[in-house]
Amino acid sequence: MKQIQDIYPMLATPRKVVITMHQKPDADAMGSALGLYHFLIRFGHSVTVISPTKWAEWLKWMPACHEVIDYEYNPEKGNAALDQAEWLFCLDFNTLLRTRSMAGKLKKLSCIKILIDHHQEPESANFTYGASDTSKSSTSEMVYDLIVGSGHADKINREVAACLYAGVMTDTGSFRFPAATASVHRMVAVLKDTGLNHSKIHENLFDNFLENRLRFTGYVLEHKMDIFYEYNTALISIPWKDLVRFEIKTGDTEGLVNYPLTIQGIKMAALIIDRDEEVKCSFRSKGDFDVNAFARKYFEGGGHINAAGGRSGDNLEQTVQRFMAAIKENSSQLQ
Ligand code: 5GP
Ligand code: MN
Repeated sequence: MKQIQDIYPMLATPRKVVITMHQKPDADAMGSALGLYHFLIRFGHSVTVISPTKWAEWLKWMPACHEVIDYEYNPEKGNAALDQAEWLFCLDFNTLLRTRSMAGKLKKLSCIKILIDHHQEPESANFTYGASDTSKSSTSEMVYDLIVGSGHADKINREVAACLYAGVMTDTGSFRFPAATASVHRMVAVLKDTGLNHSKIHENLFDNFLENRLRFTGYVLEHKMDIFYEYNTALISIPWKDLVRFEIKTGDTEGLVNYPLTIQGIKMAALIIDRDEEVKCSFRSKGDFDVNAFARKYFEGGGHINAAGGRSGDNLEQTVQRFMAAIKENSSQLQ
């Protein structure tokens, strides 16, 4: 993988470009993809954004989100764009497997592939150019670095700013995580100078849900959360029938895993959800307990030191039992 700076001199030449991101995109995956989209179209590139799967309702306010192709829903349209692509940008994932059913197709493509990502251990061999930096707060920050680094800060307009702000704000937990560096705050200052309405974005992302989601949150915290003080760990486990009962949709469980970390002394929180097609796990930690290593070792996953995810081929009960065995094994690091 050659360094991303090598593409800077080629940015101004119009091409057919596809941008993709990880499945079930969060605000950083979608925000970095659409931020890059709004930047690249200003040079006359023909740009298509493809998401491997559908995305949450609360991302739909992002400018041009309605033009994004859902690959699972419309693989023909996605494949047609991919077959034409001269450049393929892969954002906010380290392994092609994170693009689910697109992975085989992406691997086979012979176009120039460019990675921009902040997860650990990227599959560098799959990419022609790339930037991989785990010290970065978000992929949105890295897209901003590309824009400014290539000398095109003047191309940052309100659309670019809104998308990148959404990504950096959510991936830093509203600027509270250590990755919210001075550079991140300087980036936000530049975005504000373009006319960014940050209050509106917070409202779009956090005050834009349906009643069922809040009632579901209350139910889950009351009935589905267990605290294991001896391991400073909390677990929320949710059966499929509860998702059906509360009409829970893609993205509605985002953020749930953070609640237990608000309890004094809790160092690690896990959310295990039976999504019918698979059991999905999310892990969060405070301090130096490495949930990326934990997710890799026990749940076929990965992520960052304080936020990671994974999955399990077992049913919900068996997965919970495996989780309990895993935290016992790690009890010395959780004390
Ligand atoms: P979440 O718990 O919000 O799904 O994911 C937290 C973090 O872990 C995100 O940075 C996400 O990209 C990463 N992550 C989630 N699930 C997986 C997975 O199955 N594999 C890998 N490698 N990373 C994951
Ligand atoms: Mn991210």
